Amino acid sequence: MRIYNTLSRRKEEFVPLKAGEVGFYVCGPTVYNHIHIGNARTFISFDVIRRYLEYRGYNVRFVQNITDVDDKIINRAFEEGTTTEDIAQKYTKAFVEMMQAIGVKEPTVRPKATEEIPTMVSLIEGLVLSQHAYVVDNDVYFAVRSYAGYGELSRRNIDHLISGFRVDVDERKNDALDFALWKAAKAGEPAWESPWGLGRPGWHIECSAMSRRYLGESFDIHGGGEDLIFPHHENEIAQSKAAGDGFARYWLHCGMLTINDEKMSKSTGNYLLLKDVLGQVSPQALRLLMLQTHYRSPFDYSSDRSDEATAALMRVENSLRNLDMLVYSDDIVIDDRAVEELQERIAIAESGFQEQMDDDFNTAGAIAAIFALISHVNTLFASGTASSRLQALALQAAATIRNLLAVLGVDLASSPKATSGLPDGVLDLARLLLDYQGDDIGEAADALAGLRAKARTDKDWPVADAVRDGLSALGIIVEDTPRGTRMFLNTRLDEDE
Ligand code: AMP
Ligand code: ZN
Repeated sequence: MRIYNTLSRRKEEFVPLKAGEVGFYVCGPTVYNHIHIGNARTFISFDVIRRYLEYRGYNVRFVQNITDVDDKIINRAFEEGTTTEDIAQKYTKAFVEMMQAIGVKEPTVRPKATEEIPTMVSLIEGLVLSQHAYVVDNDVYFAVRSYAGYGELSRRNIDHLISGFRVDVDERKNDALDFALWKAAKAGEPAWESPWGLGRPGWHIECSAMSRRYLGESFDIHGGGEDLIFPHHENEIAQSKAAGDGFARYWLHCGMLTINDEKMSKSTGNYLLLKDVLGQVSPQALRLLMLQTHYRSPFDYSSDRSDEATAALMRVENSLRNLDMLVYSDDIVIDDRAVEELQERIAIAESGFQEQMDDDFNTAGAIAAIFALISHVNTLFASGTASSRLQALALQAAATIRNLLAVLGVDLASSPKATSGLPDGVLDLARLLLDYQGDDIGEAADALAGLRAKARTDKDWPVADAVRDGLSALGIIVEDTPRGTRMFLNTRLDEDE
């Protein structure tokens, strides 16, 4: 398996520290607002990488922090006239709910900054002792020049950086590059006891302290969005390495999401919260859409693209329905060639998927491998060939499509069965058109399908259309296939809403 490492700027063979185990850290959100769709892209990307490592047999220990003390949270609390705890709690809950909604697996550990103050204080104390950090009044700063490797991740030259700091240089710092590890308390802000008096930690130290505590001094993968490379990850490396830790070995960064080819920005209104996007597109379609672009490339979101993804997802569901019908069809024709070919196509989908994902998690290629199998299934279905061996294989093909999509976190839990979840209106329609007397929705649906099939055979188009239109008004799609008429609920979200 080859992974692109931002540190070396090339793809490297992935060799974990401990065979079969992966220690994985991904910087989490600052909980001062609902997450936006750009945050979601980064979290979905790392969820897929984690799921794939698990699929390849690794035992993954996945750590993601919650930054629940920060200037942005303090400002938000002030704006809303409430406490920082209140804001942090509210948006942490909203974040976890959103992660569940888009099928991002729970991390092994989700530490909160406010619950890890002693972990951070002890790391900072060590840095002060070894003179990588210094105390000014009640603040503590990291001395960037004390760590010779500074700039290695972002490939920035320290002296060039300096020229970027013309204004706003804090006179109390020894060097404009130095950054705060600990900030003295200001009135009305949350604060904790420390050897330097009441105060709160800086942002960067959080990840160094938590990764050390939960993954050890050295671990395998560290991830985040590309915007975190500098200064956040550069500072994390400086702190941890100065403290003697081996720290992260592979650095993975997700490209930025833009909307309609422009950077997301709250002030221009070019901004979308994940919760609002989920009102327009299903989580499965959203994942399929995002994963059609490699995680390192920039990704542009638009509503046209989300419609395409919805259509692609419907193709997948249709193919699973086709397979379902093959499994239960009774017109058995033995065709060895078709059987062999399907068997081959299943194997090719599986090996193609793995080959693509092994190459720096090329989800676009992996999805193409799944869709090649889907196309084959649809052609096979249209050709009308079926045999008992083919039926068993159809089951296997459906399982392959489902399982490979599940590795991408696209969960198609149950077979989109013909009659499950149909609305009560089906009974009324059957009563109206057929004088149906019962109260079994499935039975009523079958009767309507039978009525339509007969009307089609008799070329009685008004009746055939009345059935289809009546069902369509109930949100049910009627489809005539080479293997008969079937109906299913339209799961596509209504664009007009
Ligand atoms: P934050 O809460 O701002 O620290 O962001 C949480 C995560 O989302 C970080 O890994 C960021 O790098 C990532 N992120 C922020 N904006 C974007 C974006 N436009 N596209 C992709 N990832 C982003
Ligand atoms: Zn971090």
